[in-house]
Amino acid sequence: MTVMTGRSIAPAVSPRARRSPTADLAEWRPRSLCRWVEDPDLFFDPRPERQRAAAAVCRGCPVRTQCLSAEVPHDDASYVSGVFGGLTETQRLALRGERQLGHVPHLGVAQRLAGPGWGTWVMARERAGLTLSEMCAAVAEYGLVVDEVTVLVAVWWLGGELCRVPAPCEGDKRRLRRRLAEDYGLLLRELTAAGLRQQDVAAYLGVPLAEVTAAFKILSRGDVEARCGERVAA
Ligand code: SF4
Repeated sequence: MTVMTGRSIAPAVSPRARRSPTADLAEWRPRSLCRWVEDPDLFFDPRPERQRAAAAVCRGCPVRTQCLSAEVPHDDASYVSGVFGGLTETQRLALRGERQLGHVPHLGVAQRLAGPGWGTWVMARERAGLTLSEMCAAVAEYGLVVDEVTVLVAVWWLGGELCRVPAPCEGDKRRLRRRLAEDYGLLLRELTAAGLRQQDVAAYLGVPLAEVTAAFKILSRGDVEARCGERVAA
């Protein structure tokens, strides 16, 4: 991936604007960094390594918050595919699930957490394996009260992979579906009751769709019902 610096090769509009005519009118578009990218298709490529490269461009973009909060319909092709506002397809799908549940990130605070003052600190804790709630608590110790979805966006902007279900360790990976059904069964049901599809649930939790589908099958068989019921009673 190359970010071009010569004026003569700059496209008239950003890659995003090319695919989303309404966003073309936004006053911040001329300042978008993706206007200067030699290969605009980078932002629409489904391959994870290409999405990471595109998100790295967004990391230095001065209009990242405006881009992510742009009023593009969530079923607009330019929003559904590729990288937008510094987030990958899966991360935006997760964000969409968060919004369906009423969790709206404070992008100004996320920008601050992902900025030069906080960014290194946040990523050090992400690498240390803090869960999302532990991360919020750690930030609060410094007097900044943030909600989980705001921390998520900040970590994703920084290139981290924090998600709602902590990444299982190696030995736990094969048991993930069982763990989802047993420990997150009630949440899985709440999410579907809120209208999330299985792929939305998978993105929201940050786990593979196949594991979510398998967890729903376990739940439908009812063999973890008793344990879920015990947790509710407790
Ligand atoms: S955040 Fe990324 S996709 Fe959005 S305008 Fe900036 S560089 Fe382009």
